Amino acid sequence: NGVGPGAMMNNNNSLINRWNGKPYSQRYYEILEKRKSLPVWQQKEEFLQVLKANQVIILVGETGSGKTTQIPQFVLEGVDIETPDRRRKMMIACTQPRRVAAMSVSRRVAEEMDVTIGEEVGYSIRFEDCSSARTVLKYLTDGMLLREAMTDPLLERYKVIVLDEAHERTLATDVLFGLLKEVLKNRPDLKLVVMSATLEAEKFQGYFYGAPLMKVPGRLHPVEIFYTQDPERDYLEAAIRTVVQIHMCEPSGDILVFLTGEEEIEDACRKITKEITNMGDQVGPVKVVPLYSTLPPAMQQKIFEPAPPPSKEGGPPGRKIVVSTNIAETSLTIDGIVYVIDPGFAKQKVYNPRVRVESLLVSPISKASAHQRSGRAGRTQPGKCFRLYTEKSFNNDLQPQTYPEILRSNLANTVLTLKKLGIDDLVHFDFMDPPAPETLMRALEVLNYLGALDDDGNLTEMGEKMSEFPLDPQMSKMLVESPKYNCSNEILSISAMLSGCHQQLSCLGSMPLVGMHHRILIPNCFVRPREAQKAADEAKARFGHIDGDHLTLLNVYHAYKQNNEDPSWCYDNFVNHRALKSADNVRQQLVRIMARFNLKLCSNDFNSRDYYVNIRKAMLAGYFMQVAHLERTGQYLTVKDNQVVHLHPSNCLDHKPEWVIYNEYVLTSRNFIRTVTDVRGEWLIDIAPHYYDLSNFPQCEAKRVLERLYRKREKERENNRK
Ligand code: ADP
Ligand code: MG
Repeated sequence: NGVGPGAMMNNNNSLINRWNGKPYSQRYYEILEKRKSLPVWQQKEEFLQVLKANQVIILVGETGSGKTTQIPQFVLEGVDIETPDRRRKMMIACTQPRRVAAMSVSRRVAEEMDVTIGEEVGYSIRFEDCSSARTVLKYLTDGMLLREAMTDPLLERYKVIVLDEAHERTLATDVLFGLLKEVLKNRPDLKLVVMSATLEAEKFQGYFYGAPLMKVPGRLHPVEIFYTQDPERDYLEAAIRTVVQIHMCEPSGDILVFLTGEEEIEDACRKITKEITNMGDQVGPVKVVPLYSTLPPAMQQKIFEPAPPPSKEGGPPGRKIVVSTNIAETSLTIDGIVYVIDPGFAKQKVYNPRVRVESLLVSPISKASAHQRSGRAGRTQPGKCFRLYTEKSFNNDLQPQTYPEILRSNLANTVLTLKKLGIDDLVHFDFMDPPAPETLMRALEVLNYLGALDDDGNLTEMGEKMSEFPLDPQMSKMLVESPKYNCSNEILSISAMLSGCHQQLSCLGSMPLVGMHHRILIPNCFVRPREAQKAADEAKARFGHIDGDHLTLLNVYHAYKQNNEDPSWCYDNFVNHRALKSADNVRQQLVRIMARFNLKLCSNDFNSRDYYVNIRKAMLAGYFMQVAHLERTGQYLTVKDNQVVHLHPSNCLDHKPEWVIYNEYVLTSRNFIRTVTDVRGEWLIDIAPHYYDLSNFPQCEAKRVLERLYRKREKERENNRK
């Protein structure tokens, strides 16, 4: 009957929800009817039997068949989650590569189970845990499960782990595969369900010793595919044009447009709304909704709202137009989509170990992705997919599959996590696709320079501490070192501003700030509305610190606190209140980690000459490998790798410092370094002599300058001796 065993009647003859002891609401029954029509319900009994008989199962089903929302509920129904002593309940985990999916799906499932989100059903994403002691089903990012494994190596709080969206092959999911394979050997009572939207599943089957594969037949309607005759010069403009054409000419049905990121999506939403509004009554009303990872939860819900009705009876139909990143490719299913527009691009991570640059680049998607995207048009009725590239390009230029993220990433943070998990022999770790040896070597080298690993590759005490921070290793190192410079309070604020205000990145991988040596982050704590750009720039300049952008961020944070976190102060000063609030929340969590290690919270006297100097030195203690030197030619070169880079125009410096540390390396048509701060050459050789060891340094201008600095230091030492 779908209400599950343990459902009880009360004396009013209504059924009682076994999870919270309350009678089911009317809404519960309404949703239940809808749920029962999802394809996975056909195989509910079969699934439970296979689960009973096996430790690992692979489940493949089209997007929208009900895997993510229903399967964990089936598991709850079919598996006894009480501990053997019957004193506690264990949990079911369901991992998601994307934080938005974890939040959105858990909310939906809480509703389906008629419980409050955060109680019996919860979610956990980096810097936000919405679960409680009562939680029996937890949706969490794959990166968070990996973090949990650091303190609970056998994942003992879980009875069943569902690895969802396995086809995405995110870095964290790939590491979890290898890890769980080991854990399963030591936990015969633990079960694993691997869920995927594509047939690559046979690869998973091989990896998990021939685990049974269950297929949920899709219920897809045919989708007609259209290509452009000639390549499009501007896919954004082409996408907008196509939306307008569909709205004018095609029968009713909602539209889904795939774009690459927040800015582009907001821009497109504005333009679409404007163009269609300008067309007046001859076309129906539209509801244009954006979807990307940093969208606030209330806005995320909008994608599930119905299309607006026609403005007058018998008038042209209203439409919902969703403009989304890859999130809508397989992670979230939006019902009612009939038209898909696929420009063929996504932001993807790329890593070049030779120059240690990891970046997000807008690049062509794979054929598999294109196929998934078009599938979104045929969920409820026959649909149409408009590919904004030529058929020839589809056949010749697109790769069959997207490379697993592990082959495209800087692995410093992953290696640190693995070391913390007690996996010392990385070469023999059972990766489904082993990363390039050079990438692993690079990661080991970086961690060794940071002092997280000793020369034999063993985790040091420093490494232990660093691994506890859900941050990239450079930032963790800076935090651990900051009390030595008597400025941990300020470094905490800067770290929080860098992480809390920059969560765009997580739309690509949810691994907690995956080991980024260089990465793209867009500081979005500053608001720059189109209609008030000048005022916004002036406001930003008021926070500006001439020695660097990190210190500017610190000024913003201080001003925010001094103004009692007032949203209207934020508005007046063109500061994003949500970003600041998020930074403040991140800061509190980092403070707790600092406390755990007795790292003291301290500040220099604000009026002391050393106040900013010490902050800059502490930053260098973490970021000494992200330094660029100003050459006599007026160009910056990154230290050791000698890449030509430019200061990003957003910087607040009033001069071109000889040495800068930078937070991000942005690859576009030019290479930019963004969020930069002035540092002194002397500090480099004082703080990181092991890295600035000139016997191991390429010939370049920076080397000659450093040689002089070393000689100067030598002379000073001699003079002191005299
Ligand atoms: P799968 O994981 O197989 O892709 P899901 O379990 O995510 O499928 O989705 C099953 C159904 O639940 C879809 O029809 C989807 O539209 C619906 N659904 C999911 N989340 C929500 C929500 N927040 N509001 C309304 N419907 C939802
Ligand atoms: Mg799903």
